[in-house]
Amino acid sequence: MGCWDSSSAIKKHVFDSLKKLNISPSKHKGQNFLIDSNIIQYQVKQAEINHNDTVLEIGGGLGNLSRCLAEEAKKLFIIEVDRRMVSFLQEFMSCYSNTEILQGDAVKTELPSFTKCVSNLPYQISSPITFKLLEHDFEIAILMYQKEFAQRFFASPGTRDYSRISVMMNLKASCKYLKTVNPSLFFPKPQVFSSIVSVKKKEKSLDIDHNDFGQFITLLFTQRKKTVRNVLVNLIKRKSKQSILIDYVVMDNLPHLERRIFSLTIDELADLYSVLKAKLGEDLWSAMTSLSTR
Ligand code: SAM
Repeated sequence: MGCWDSSSAIKKHVFDSLKKLNISPSKHKGQNFLIDSNIIQYQVKQAEINHNDTVLEIGGGLGNLSRCLAEEAKKLFIIEVDRRMVSFLQEFMSCYSNTEILQGDAVKTELPSFTKCVSNLPYQISSPITFKLLEHDFEIAILMYQKEFAQRFFASPGTRDYSRISVMMNLKASCKYLKTVNPSLFFPKPQVFSSIVSVKKKEKSLDIDHNDFGQFITLLFTQRKKTVRNVLVNLIKRKSKQSILIDYVVMDNLPHLERRIFSLTIDELADLYSVLKAKLGEDLWSAMTSLSTR
C-alpha cells in the first residue's frame, strides 16, 4: 500500500472512512486525525525505523500513521481504545502481516516490549501515558502532544511550567523539541497548537531507585510552592507521634530546607531524597512515601 503521497489522499481517506463508519470523531477520545503527509513522513523519518524495530503506536485511529509505520518496521503494535476504530483498523491494516492491533486503554493495558514508539497521542492521556512509557526500555519515541504540555519537558527550575513531569522526563530521558504543528493540519481542527518531541531513554542516569524517587517527587510537587521544610514537617508529622524528636533528628542538616520545591534542580532533589531517606530509616520512609499513592 505504501505511505501517503499527498495530504489530499489522507484527507479523502479520513472523510471517506468516517462516512463509511457513519461516525463523528469523539472529542472525549481526542480523535483529531493528522491529515498532513509531510508531518507523517517527518515523524517516521525522525524515528529512523529499520527492519529490526518493534514499533508501538498509541491511538491508531483510522491508520493514517500506522500504515507508514508498518511499511518500515519489523513489527507494529497498535493500541486503540475505540472498538469502532479497532474493527476498521483490522480491515485497513490486513495487508500488513507484521501488525497487531490491541483493543484497550493504553494507560491500563500492559504495553508490549518495543524499541520505538511513534504516536499522535490523545491529549487527555498525555500525563499518565508519558509516565508509563518512561517506565519501559526503548530507544526513541517520537510523540505529538499539546504544545503547552510539551513545554513542561523543557521548563527550568523556578518557572511556572516546572513540574513533576519535567523532573521525571529529564531524569530518565533526553528530550528534544522538534516541531510545532498547526491545528489546521488535523481533522477536526483542535483548539490548540501541537508539538512533536523526541524522547531518548538515558542509558545511565542518577544512581537512585527511580520508582521510589518518583513517589517522593509526586509527594513534593503536590505542594510545589511550599518550602521543603514545610512540606516535610507536615508529611512526617502525619506519620509520627514523636514530632519534636523527628523535627530535631530529621530536619537538622537536611539540604535545601528553605527552598521552594519548584525551585530545586534534579540533582538537588536527588540530594534531598538520599539524605532524608538515610535519616528517616526504612519504616518511616515507606510510611511517608506510601501517602503519595493514596
Ligand atoms: N493515529 C491517528 C492519527 O495520527 O491521525 C489518530 C490519532 S488521534 C489524535 C488519537 C487516537 O487515540 C484516537 O484514535 C483515539 O480513539 C485513541 N485513544 C484515545 N484514548 C485512548 C486510550 N486511552 N488508549 C488508546 N487509544 C486511545
